[in-house]
Amino acid sequence: MKQIQEIINIFRPAKNLNFEKMGPTNPNARGIPVPASKKGFHLDKSIEKVCPTGGLKVSSSKEVIFDYGACLQCGHCVEASSGQLENSGFVHVYSVDREALKVRYIDGVPVAYEEEVSENVKQFRKITKNTGFQYREVAASGNNATEAEINASFNAVFDSEASMVRVVASPKHSDAVVFAGPVGPNMEIPLQVAWDTTPGPKALIACGTEAVSGGLFQRGKLPKEPDLFIGGDPPRPDVIVSAFRYLMGRKKFSFREELSKFISERRSKS
Ligand code: SF4
Repeated sequence: MKQIQEIINIFRPAKNLNFEKMGPTNPNARGIPVPASKKGFHLDKSIEKVCPTGGLKVSSSKEVIFDYGACLQCGHCVEASSGQLENSGFVHVYSVDREALKVRYIDGVPVAYEEEVSENVKQFRKITKNTGFQYREVAASGNNATEAEINASFNAVFDSEASMVRVVASPKHSDAVVFAGPVGPNMEIPLQVAWDTTPGPKALIACGTEAVSGGLFQRGKLPKEPDLFIGGDPPRPDVIVSAFRYLMGRKKFSFREELSKFISERRSKS
């Protein structure tokens, strides 16, 4: 009987996520704050004070700049905005261009920006698109939350290895270094050593808001400008795996295009 059950299991459809069909939002998550979809947007400058990371700047009552690479998705600004901001559920916050995560909204509409792709990322895509990549993770003074989500990215639901992304113990065997945390003074040298030991062509990946911008802390010195920035404190496992697929060129994605599309759909429904 047990053997029959095992044979049936072989033919059962896999329960892991279909990354091809995944959208940028998650109904169970707070996501990044965005201007409310109703018309007549105006925001008071005093709201800047509620943000613990300096993640939003109000240049005029009609203009706000969010740095989603510094945003913890804590929702404090939404609570203090008298209905002018909303939690969006938009969680796929990642780009190969740090500037792409800084979004200027005028009258609630994001200003267009074209993401720049560096030569290093183009080279990395060439070698990893069909074969995937291996990475060494460096826990660089964080609180282990991002590491917990990275661990979860290998479970049967998110199945990072099915996306051809594996973790290895030694940077000598890796194609990329993933770091989480704000890189405190004691972790600057270990991160540099891990990077120097990784053979090229290689990529440096900042995973989580603290790694991207420092979050609540001053971020330490990095070996180089990262090749991929993943926002979220911590980012969800599906966001991490999707960001890796995008870095490899296996997933077509532009944070700015997806966000603009999302905002325009919300506004047309309101
Ligand atoms: S960190 Fe919190 S308060 Fe600051 S922009 Fe993000 S959600 Fe708003």
